Amino acid sequence: MAELLEIAGMSEDLIYLMKEALREAEKGLAKGEVPVGAVLADPRGIIVARTHNLPITLHDPTAHAEILALRRGGAYQENYRLPGTTLVVTKEPCPMCMGAAINARIKRLVFGAFDPKTGAAVSRYNLAQDEKLNHQIEVVPGFMEETCVKLLQDFFKTRRRQKRNTRRGTEVVVTGSTRNRLVPLRAGHVGSNPTLSAT
Ligand SMILES: [Zn+2]
Repeated sequence: MAELLEIAGMSEDLIYLMKEALREAEKGLAKGEVPVGAVLADPRGIIVARTHNLPITLHDPTAHAEILALRRGGAYQENYRLPGTTLVVTKEPCPMCMGAAINARIKRLVFGAFDPKTGAAVSRYNLAQDEKLNHQIEVVPGFMEETCVKLLQDFFKTRRRQKRNTRRGTEVVVTGSTRNRLVPLRAGHVGSNPTLSAT
């Protein structure tokens, strides 16, 4: 990793960008979304988009943090290609998001937590460096991994506890605006969020 960063020559900048992505992930968490955040930095390292997961909120299966960042970045730069940009995301992107990143021609992807189930940058598929595709992306994997993993683990731990409580048919703790408040059980109240493998 140290070697990669030396090559990238921007470790401090990357720490700043990942911290911003983590702040975005926290915003998603507060809305009951799987906590994944992203930022897109232009070739000068200036952030042009800050986004978090919103598929549940927007009723949109494509509203992953990375897709939203690419959309906003494109609108901001008034260009459907985003050459020279760096996408920083707290979790390894899925195949959909990697496809969009390749179409956008981003230069570099930096991610925190590996996703062994659906990660498409290096884990399950290696779309970033697939030479059959017409664009390759530099990858800095596992950057600030521990912090990014912890955020996701805490989220899924809480959700498992909610599901257990739901099965007992007593009461549940909900996340989001009513976080930490005990509420009466209602059918379908919990368990409707997508799992990590669905992000
Ligand atoms: Zn995705």
